Amino acid sequence: MALIVQKYGGSSVGSIDRIRNVARRLVETHRAGNRVVAVVSAMSGVTDRLIGMAHEVSENPPTRELDMLMATGEQQSIALLGMAITEMGFKARSFTGRQAGIFTYGSHTRARIHRIDPAAVTTALDEGYICICAGFQGIAADGAICTLGRGGSDLSAIALAAAVKADLCQIYTDVDGVYTCDPRVVKDARKLPVLSYDEMLEMASSGSKVMQARSVEFAKKFGVVFEVRNSMNNNPGTIVQEETPSMESLVIRGVSIERNQARLTISNISEPVPYTAIILSALSDAEINVDMIVANTAHDGHARQSLTMNMSDLGAAQAALQKVLPQFGAEAKLETEAGLAKLSVVGVGMRSNSGVAATMFRALADAGIETGMIATSEIRITTTVPAADIEQAARVVHDAFHLNTVQE
Ligand code: ADP
Ligand code: ASP
Ligand code: MG
Repeated sequence: MALIVQKYGGSSVGSIDRIRNVARRLVETHRAGNRVVAVVSAMSGVTDRLIGMAHEVSENPPTRELDMLMATGEQQSIALLGMAITEMGFKARSFTGRQAGIFTYGSHTRARIHRIDPAAVTTALDEGYICICAGFQGIAADGAICTLGRGGSDLSAIALAAAVKADLCQIYTDVDGVYTCDPRVVKDARKLPVLSYDEMLEMASSGSKVMQARSVEFAKKFGVVFEVRNSMNNNPGTIVQEETPSMESLVIRGVSIERNQARLTISNISEPVPYTAIILSALSDAEINVDMIVANTAHDGHARQSLTMNMSDLGAAQAALQKVLPQFGAEAKLETEAGLAKLSVVGVGMRSNSGVAATMFRALADAGIETGMIATSEIRITTTVPAADIEQAARVVHDAFHLNTVQE
């Protein structure tokens, strides 16, 4: 008898019919002799709608109240799923984050999991229940409901799988697995049968939102092997696990895109001032995540620094930096550029193969696509491109690495 954790995302529970479909799948897994824990997201669109309502009431809603509100989305779906399973004649019990023993720490709306005490869930499993846990939520030490960041049900599922020592952790979504690029953007993208934690992490953090990046980090840390699959069919999905030597045989595993990027540049900085420290401290105090950073000193001794960030942070970043601008001299200037996107290629094979960047930038240049800031890690190369060109950029780079044809 195996213990299986199955996570169903928003589109998998997006309607009453879909909820019945999930109920059937859970019952089938249970009837096959397994102990089953489901982790469920809010119905698709619900979290966005709740956030929208909060912003109608308040320009800057208190994050404690925002968490209280957002957590209701998942509570709707666990209750409906519990009813659907009961209606089919099987025992089901729903659990909020608190009831599932998910304890968090850190800021509201992006809390972290501190520990999980799954005793109530395992007792219910022992009593023959199918357990249905609300994703995305947990409880802080002061008793407040906290959420785990957008896409956080992935994290709930992986953390619960680790806590109950699941034999299998399956992440059900609306595509067959992790593809070489978002299949909605590159039509001939291929499903990857297997992927290393590091590749999945780099893809997730560079825009492949099929998995929440933090959940992959957690899976790597605790060695939770998981499979990304489609909730509407029985096709094998993508297994994400520790790297194996054969994985390096492919140079590039996938291409990621991220839209809604902006660049902010401070120029004419009169040196000497520790400008990078000042800029990054000001942004960190304003709780803004900076992505790429480029600094250089011009011939006339003036320095210049550019940073990229999510478009939604640009206004707050501008406000924070206006305050420190006088420290950079009277001529210092702050400029912004919106309408950017990021394109990344990812693969562990990059470590042992040269020429990856050359292939990528040649393909973009041949397509007449302008590139901007560049950042790299050991297994990723990222560049900014104009937002209007991002889909074409993804396609030409996908083609340049023959990702539509390469066999495992
Ligand atoms: P869920 O609601 O199940 O959590 P998400 O919308 O968060 O689902 O993630 C699934 C979506 O991720 C897919 O519909 C797909 O458009 C997108 N996606 C982005 N990059 C990739 C990729 N490399 N492989 C598969 N899907 C991807
Ligand atoms: N409902 C939450 C969100 O939309 C969490 C999740 O779906 O994973 O971000
Ligand atoms: Mg998701």
